[in-house]
Amino acid sequence: MKNFLNLKSGIIYGLELNKLFSYLNKKNIALLAINCIDNLTINSVLESARISKTIVIIQFSYSGSSFFIGNSNDKNSFDSSVKGAILAAYYIHEASIYYNVPVILHTDHCTKDNLNWIDSLLNYNKDFFNSYGKPLFSSHMIDLSIYNLKYNIDICSYYLNEFNKFGIFLEIELGCTGGEEDGIDNSKLSKDKLYTKPENVIYAFKKLSKISNNFLIAASFGNTHGVYKPGNVLLCPKILLRSQNLLNKYNNSNILNFVFHGGSGTSFKIIKECIKYGVVKINLDTDIQWNYWNGVLDYYKKNKLYLKSQLGNPKGIYKPNKKFYDPRIWLKNSKKFIINYLLNVFNILGCNNLI
Ligand SMILES: [Zn+2]
Repeated sequence: MKNFLNLKSGIIYGLELNKLFSYLNKKNIALLAINCIDNLTINSVLESARISKTIVIIQFSYSGSSFFIGNSNDKNSFDSSVKGAILAAYYIHEASIYYNVPVILHTDHCTKDNLNWIDSLLNYNKDFFNSYGKPLFSSHMIDLSIYNLKYNIDICSYYLNEFNKFGIFLEIELGCTGGEEDGIDNSKLSKDKLYTKPENVIYAFKKLSKISNNFLIAASFGNTHGVYKPGNVLLCPKILLRSQNLLNKYNNSNILNFVFHGGSGTSFKIIKECIKYGVVKINLDTDIQWNYWNGVLDYYKKNKLYLKSQLGNPKGIYKPNKKFYDPRIWLKNSKKFIINYLLNVFNILGCNNLI
């Protein structure tokens, strides 16, 4: 299975990405898609992928992109979301080659209000394609799941047609992911919105596949962003299986590629079941946030007495503590925590040793 597609390090897109997803679907393998916000998260993901010999999906949200360039306000983030996403993309293009890892570079949920973000990124994709013969991003997500199905798919069809000119994939959402993430608050949605109808999946598939097969479907089956008390989230992965079976009745040569949003906190047993039904991409955000923080917390607990002031620790009142509060030292612990977490997940999901 090693290096089955002869994938090179760097960004994967177009036909190569299409073949990769088909292969993963047939072999019951899903890739992890990790929301990154800064160099530390990107480097941690790349390093863990290099160690595990796997392919990773690095994704940036609208507000994560804005944060990347230094904007920590939620307001007026359009310019910073565009610029941040582009700078992160350039960084990942180079860093993925440096780390020797094939990467799928993706943007996460884009709601109707932020479609001008994707419009701007599409312009950059065009320029990049004209200069280098490849797109800047591998794929973009458009999330119009709160609107009616026809409207959702009409707009997504327009974007798929545009993306297709540059080998860019589209991810759509059908039914809504519950909970709250990055300013998209679905925590008060009625429960029935959290479960997609298989007929709607087939409707979307039929419309989109007329344009291109380069798309993934985030079909909701009760999934929720964030981590909650056990029992609060009722998952029904069989929706994915029913959708595959329904598609089979219409066209048995095709297969649906699904995305699992809100993967953090879900048992591996359920994740594996979802993979069996065609999930090829699993999004992780909250668990990465926890490990980022937990690394700092762990460091603080172990070195508390050396972190109270610049001078003075148990070894003497004027002993310098520079070696303890240098951010490189304590951020290294966050990186270690994220990497250890990812290595474990790659291992459990069996997506290591792909390259
Ligand atoms: Zn999501």
